[in-house]
Amino acid sequence: MKKRNFLINAFLKKCPRCQEGNLFTAPFEFSKPVAMPEQCPICKQKYEPEPGFYYGAMFLSYIFSGFFFLGIMGILLIVFKMSINPAMGVLLIVAAITYFFFLRMSRSIWINLLVKYDPKSKEKQETQSFGY
Ligand SMILES: [Zn+2]
Repeated sequence: MKKRNFLINAFLKKCPRCQEGNLFTAPFEFSKPVAMPEQCPICKQKYEPEPGFYYGAMFLSYIFSGFFFLGIMGILLIVFKMSINPAMGVLLIVAAITYFFFLRMSRSIWINLLVKYDPKSKEKQETQSFGY
């Protein structure tokens, strides 16, 4: 299999090491929005290599959602000429809808930034915290 760009791989929410295993447990549950298996079902890459690994993902999520919401506000105020209070209402609804998307996406991008792709990871199948 050919190596995928890490951003595409992050968007698909796949394991960064083998690019095949899913990062999140399949049926989405509102009580566990970021439920991840302990390790990749295919290459045994640990999904939480160290305690507090996803602390940095919080900043990613903050940056992405910040600019996204700024853009939404700009469109509502400038293009649709809404006043500030109804625009804020629309923004709150958009924020509620996209909340879980940003939460999962930031975790996925974070682990994809820090763990390297390894084409031989499927044969090796040993537990590794980082891909090196
Ligand atoms: Zn994997």
